[in-house]
Amino acid sequence: MVSGPPGRGRTSGSAERSGSTGGLSGSSAERCGRSGGRSGSTGRGSSDRGVRLEITARDGDARAGWLHTERGSVRLPCFMPVGTRGSVRALSTADLACLGAPVMLANTYHLLLRPGTDLIEAAGGIHAFAAWDGHVLTDSGGYQAHSLPSSVDDGGVTIRSVYDGGLVYLTPESVVAAQEAIGADVQMVLDVCAPYPAGAEELRSALQRTAAWAKRSVAAKRREGQALFGIVQGGVDPGLRRLSAELTVALDFDGYGIGGLSVGEPRGAMLQALESAIGVLPQDRARYLMGVGDPVGLVEGVARGVDLFDCVAPTRLARHGAVLTARGRYNLRRAEHAGSLEPLEEGCPCATCSRYTRAYIRHLLMVGEPVALRLVTWHNVSWMLSLMDRINAAIGAGRLDSLRAEIMAAWG
Ligand SMILES: [Zn+2]
Repeated sequence: MVSGPPGRGRTSGSAERSGSTGGLSGSSAERCGRSGGRSGSTGRGSSDRGVRLEITARDGDARAGWLHTERGSVRLPCFMPVGTRGSVRALSTADLACLGAPVMLANTYHLLLRPGTDLIEAAGGIHAFAAWDGHVLTDSGGYQAHSLPSSVDDGGVTIRSVYDGGLVYLTPESVVAAQEAIGADVQMVLDVCAPYPAGAEELRSALQRTAAWAKRSVAAKRREGQALFGIVQGGVDPGLRRLSAELTVALDFDGYGIGGLSVGEPRGAMLQALESAIGVLPQDRARYLMGVGDPVGLVEGVARGVDLFDCVAPTRLARHGAVLTARGRYNLRRAEHAGSLEPLEEGCPCATCSRYTRAYIRHLLMVGEPVALRLVTWHNVSWMLSLMDRINAAIGAGRLDSLRAEIMAAWG
């Protein structure tokens, strides 16, 4: 187990205990320098389908509420840090619990290849293996088929291993079985993510294969108490987005991913495609905009009724020294920060900002001390989770529009 959080409030064993109720208690979050947790036990609410959505507030099309699962309850809307291989890069799962992240997103393709699902299953599933009591959502590997050398046929997809160059063949059935072995709380179907730009025929073929595979995924699912989300494709063509959503909704999934966006298209086209898909999705199921988590994309997605987001950017940027703030982002590597005795962001309650100066962290970054990556990652993840807190509060107060304007002014 990696040691506790940086900075003040280190309480022996607190990080290990903090997620034991299926989320993070407010007191643990406070010990870690955060003002409150975003998940917790509001009572089990899962039905036989494994998850249940509870909407507690609306502001226009935006919704706030809870996703109740067998593990506990996740407050929505929610940003999920990406822990592709079972850990958010530069953070331990104890860190993640301390930060109050309700869900860690892991990746089936990567975990299948390293360390293999047999080991994870033998260890008692991903939660025991990674010592993580929060929720886990696993992406299927469909995006890796899009971003890595691969070939698709009606049966499945052949992808080259990033580890040894060997070939791995994923099918809808094998991906469901792998996610059951991993023990994810929410699993995603194997989908076909078309490139951008793509012609109508390519988009249509990808969405039809995605629909056929979705049906096979539903038939393959064996394990109770685990949610399975379908994925809507269709590129930036509104008609194909609607068609894909209709085909997916017909299979009655526990929730719906909207995939194949944030792959290079302009924001306007992305939002139009999102609206086309959401118009077809049922109100009583969670919606997950896959791979989108920049502040503007996130708040615009929420305004259109999205509940769940993930994005590697906050952690990837941190490793390049980019710091997220209410005024936009800056690069800590720039010389102007060399003598700054300010925190990364003035007023930020996170454990990094409560203790360390820009000058110190920049020094660590410039000389290649690994902890610099952890300190900046800690701030950026904390910042994203705090942004979700603000979005939640704004929905409850009916003032999401003013927050949208504020975020657009800083980040647009
Ligand atoms: Zn901070």
